[in-house]
Amino acid sequence: MASPINPCSICDANCCKSYIITATAFDILRVIEATQRPPSEFATLHQARLLAFDPDTTLDMEDESWIYLLGFKSHPCVFLEKNQCSIHGHAPLSCRRYPFQLDGKLNARFCPLLPQLAFRLKGADISAALMKDELEAYKKIVKEWNVRPGKLSECLDFLVGKAREARSKGPI
Ligand code: SF4
Ligand code: SF4
Repeated sequence: MASPINPCSICDANCCKSYIITATAFDILRVIEATQRPPSEFATLHQARLLAFDPDTTLDMEDESWIYLLGFKSHPCVFLEKNQCSIHGHAPLSCRRYPFQLDGKLNARFCPLLPQLAFRLKGADISAALMKDELEAYKKIVKEWNVRPGKLSECLDFLVGKAREARSKGPI
């Protein structure tokens, strides 16, 4: 972490072990490019029944009755190694902003007390505006899929392909 204060240094990555990690297709694309790993190795579609979610990010399927959310293989996250994020700097924007929410509020339910206090002083690593723009672009991709949903096995490639296409047209 670039900041001289790293509140997470005295925590055992509780958040990376406790949350189901959701992501946008742009997050997945960044990790593909940074690691050269195929998305099937680390990305997955989580059944959304037990998760708190934004309804505009849920995916319908032609062959399933559940709705799904794009994310990383988690619990703990597939990129957690020795209690450290192995893709630091390329992690989903929601991870890099955590424990702050889009509205700027601190949601530090898994953070020990001292890191919570440190986050209050330090603030988030990335701006909510950056995350919000990307989220809005991702919601358009989700909407496109949901107009005519395909099979679960086709969804990941569709989302990543559309993210690549959107980004090739310029900044989102
Ligand atoms: S991507 Fe990194 S920061 Fe995000 S949950 Fe996984 S290990 Fe933690
Ligand atoms: S964000 Fe909070 S829970 Fe996650 S590693 Fe840092 S201190 Fe721990």
